[in-house]
Amino acid sequence: MAIQTKARKFSNYINGNWVISSNDKVYASINPANKNEIVGYVPESTEKELNEAVAAAKEAGKLWRKLSGASRGEYLFKAAAIMEQRVDEIAETMTREMGKTFVEAKGETVRGINILRYYAGEGMRKIGDIIPSSDHEALMFTTRSPLGVVGIITPWNFPVAIPIWKMAPALIYGNTLVIKPAQEAAVTAIKVIECFHEAGFPNGVVNIVTGPGSVIGQGLIDHPDINGITFTGSDSVGKRVGQGAFNRGAKYQLEMGGKNPVIVAADADLDLAVEATISGGLRSTGQKCTATSRVIVVSDVYEEFKEKLLTKVKEIKVGNGLENESWMGPCASESQLNTVLTYIEKGVNEGATLLFGGKRLEEGDLAQGFYVQPTVFENVKSYMTIAQEEIFGPVLALIEVDTLEEALDVANDVKFGLSASIFTKNIGNMLSFVQDMEAGLVRINAESAGVELQAPFGGMKQSSSHSREQGKAAIEFFTSIKTVFVKP
Ligand code: NDP
Repeated sequence: MAIQTKARKFSNYINGNWVISSNDKVYASINPANKNEIVGYVPESTEKELNEAVAAAKEAGKLWRKLSGASRGEYLFKAAAIMEQRVDEIAETMTREMGKTFVEAKGETVRGINILRYYAGEGMRKIGDIIPSSDHEALMFTTRSPLGVVGIITPWNFPVAIPIWKMAPALIYGNTLVIKPAQEAAVTAIKVIECFHEAGFPNGVVNIVTGPGSVIGQGLIDHPDINGITFTGSDSVGKRVGQGAFNRGAKYQLEMGGKNPVIVAADADLDLAVEATISGGLRSTGQKCTATSRVIVVSDVYEEFKEKLLTKVKEIKVGNGLENESWMGPCASESQLNTVLTYIEKGVNEGATLLFGGKRLEEGDLAQGFYVQPTVFENVKSYMTIAQEEIFGPVLALIEVDTLEEALDVANDVKFGLSASIFTKNIGNMLSFVQDMEAGLVRINAESAGVELQAPFGGMKQSSSHSREQGKAAIEFFTSIKTVFVKP
């Protein structure tokens, strides 16, 4: 490929060194707000680099696992401090690479810093229990062992937060790692790894190898020296990761798609519900796994809610995420834009009514980017494709129901179960929602997107492998319990 001289060439990070791909191939990371801008060139690595990274991580693990949790935490604190100094630069790179607005990108980067600090502190907290033995002279307790080398595969939609919420717990509990970021956001991920490099982690503890999922991702799944693999991405790739890891007895953790509903009850604060639906559904151009995509409204308030929602949606300013006035950026890539447009077409063909949006935006500078209008459908039935499949774009499907019971049935009528929210003032409604909603994250009078870093996160049904990430829950994946019996 012809290389634009202005764009920087990035490298893999293997065993403490910055290394290019042995085939010397690179791919260009494109700005989705302006397809003519190359954000950087990233190695299109081969199995050779992957094998070197895994070997380095395996060797480094021998010493890393012997450090105290507090000592490992010091490295995480250092990485957090360095990232804090580079917060604007990393956030700007994220906006240029995958399109979310700078405000959101900065919020995500700050969150990454906070996750590092949270897990740095975890290095000094308890990792086991004392269990009374039936032998009164014996001491019985549990402790935790690291898995060894962890493989990390991440998507493009949270290119700082997701890598960090996997790397930080992996490291604090004594694992070493090889991460393969999504191609569309690899420059941002490499900048995060630069912070780890500057923090002085011992060589081989942290490694990044960029390249196609089919080579580097698949290579991680199949590698005999990868002891655990943690994945966030689409359900189709996730299933492949799970099967591959299971076949060779590696531990795995999958976080996949969502089709998240918001339920609006007759007694809801409609202004609040509208605000949360727009923020939850359209922020980040709808490209959050927890984004609201189905809006289930009881008929008593349906028309009023719809009008309020449409008024606000029409005011949304779409544009380059680096411009202050832009509220919603482009889709992250051309293929994502095409996916969204295909789903919109399906919605129309299957009989839903397009109330607003539905088109690519191509006026002026927008023509150079992958922009789509915020889109609202009504007369959506639960069996329709746009009510069943994850679109991962700024598309809201309004579904009118007669009762709250029907609303819950519709909300649960999908294969996913990641997040869900309800708007109501009635405590009984709240409690039945908490009990009956099939989702790993349920929120009341708050948008469906939004996960606090200290709380467990993960989905039910086909949204996950039923494990949880973040907060204290992370220890369950990144360690194995060892039961110890000591008879002096
Ligand atoms: P993909 O599943 O396409 O990609 C995720 C990662 O897997 C990328 O790094 C990708 O690499 C890699 N990959 C692709 N093919 C393979 C393969 N054969 N073997 C191993 N790895 C492979 O998802 P997207 O990046 O498109 O992300 C969007 C998806 O992520 C959405 O479905 C969304 O719901 C989900 N998601 C879920 C979250 C959750 O916590 N539940 C959070 C955020 C997103 P490459 O880039 O080279 O294709």
